[in-house]
Formats: sequence, structure tokens, C-alpha cells
Amino acid sequence: MAVHAHPDDEASGTGGMLARYAAEGIRTVLVTCTDGRCGDGPGGVKPGEPGHDPAAVAAARRTELEASCAILGVSDLELLGYADSGMVGWATNEAPGSFWSTPVEEPAERLAELIDRYQPDVVVTYDPNGFYGHPDHIQAHRITTAALARTGSTAKVYWTTIPHSTMAKFAEMAREAGMDMGDDAAPGDFPEMGLPDDQVTTWVDVTAFAEKKFAALGAHASQEETMPFLSMGVEAFAAVMGVETFVRVDDSTNAAAREDDLFAGLR
Ligand SMILES: [Zn+2]
Repeated sequence: MAVHAHPDDEASGTGGMLARYAAEGIRTVLVTCTDGRCGDGPGGVKPGEPGHDPAAVAAARRTELEASCAILGVSDLELLGYADSGMVGWATNEAPGSFWSTPVEEPAERLAELIDRYQPDVVVTYDPNGFYGHPDHIQAHRITTAALARTGSTAKVYWTTIPHSTMAKFAEMAREAGMDMGDDAAPGDFPEMGLPDDQVTTWVDVTAFAEKKFAALGAHASQEETMPFLSMGVEAFAAVMGVETFVRVDDSTNAAAREDDLFAGLR
């Protein structure tokens, strides 16, 4: 079970592992917490700009999400349906029905019901900072933590992460591609994002599924944030996106501290 904030997070963060484990015959459940209404509208219009209809954006992104899930072989898609809260500091953070403004208890209870129903062996979500501070990613972390405590689940629990060596590689690639990384940016400048390599417990080889991950991202092509990936082309993408990394935070299987499989100790 992967608990994500928005339509497209399942592809960018965990598309490789979802496709790999589906191909291995493992049931995969995606819980998407928000409707993505603060995403890009037709032609890339942003929220608040003319032509941005939040309800239409949410509907379009649901269609994209379903297409992505079909590509990745996700067995079950569960939508919690909260309103996308937008980036940190946006007025939408506090809008009625936004995921961020909803007390943790309510979505945690709903997620706990899903955990009880599906009995996942592995649960994946974000770290306490939502990797990069997006309110909905932080909230997804909080409700997952609360739901797991409520159910007494013995699932292996993971947070998605990126090793600092990979962050440095991405920064270098972006610089080579001519992207403005800011005057002072240099590899290793993002210590608050990701983890030192030696703290990353779980390195999952998804090389064989990079094309599916690329296609799943392509299903979310209405979103500008997918462009840096899609513009690489599938071959370059596959060359750098062949491993997905996680930090294991709960485990009762006695799997090795460093592992290459989220299901290590469960097979
Ligand atoms: Zn997101």
C-alpha cells in the first residue's frame, strides 16, 4: 500500500516499485489523498489564473491517475478525495475541505479502515517533512502514522527518500541542461531533502520498469512538474531512474538493515 498526496506522486515517487511488484503478482493498493485541484489547468494555467477551473482540473487529473494506475498495474485505487491544499503559504491551505485544514483524526480513521480491509504487508509514504515540505505530503505522512498506530498493523513501513549522492547528480544534470539552480546552488546544497546514502536502507532495482514509470508520468502530462522527466526521453530517464530508494522505519521481520526489496523477510 502506497499512500500519496496527489495524482502523479504515485508515478514520480514509486512508479517503478509499483510496476515491479505488480509484475511479481503482488497486490498493490494506491491511496491518493487529494483531488489535485491546485494543479495545472489546460495550457499550464495555474490556480487563480483565468481558465483555471479547480473542479475541471480535479476531474482531468482523476482520469490521468486512472491511466497511470492502469500502466503501473495498480490493483486497487482508493481516493480519499480531499481538496488539494496547494503549495505552502497558498490561501488554499486553509480552504474548507482542504486536506491540510482537516484534522488528522478524520482521514486517519478512513485510512485505518483501508488498512484493516487490505491488511498490507508493506506501507509506503513520505517522511515527516513530506520530502520537500508540501503541506499535503506532510499531512499524508501524519495520517499514515496515525492510522498505522490505530490498527496495530505489523506492516513493514517505509518513507520514500533520495540519497544525497542522487540529489547531487540531479542538480548536476539540471545545471547541464541549463536550468537555473540559483547563484549559490551546488551539489549537496539540499541537506534538508533526502538522506545521507548510509542512512538509506532500501534500494529497489526498477530498471526493467523504467519505461512503465516513464509512461505513467506521461499519463500526467498536464502537469508542468512532469516535464523535466518527460523531456529527458525514455532512454536517458531509464539510465538515471533505475533505482527507487526508501528508508525503513518499522519492521518486525528481521530483514537485513540494508535490503534491495521492500518485501525482504516476507517472502
Ligand atoms: Zn504531490
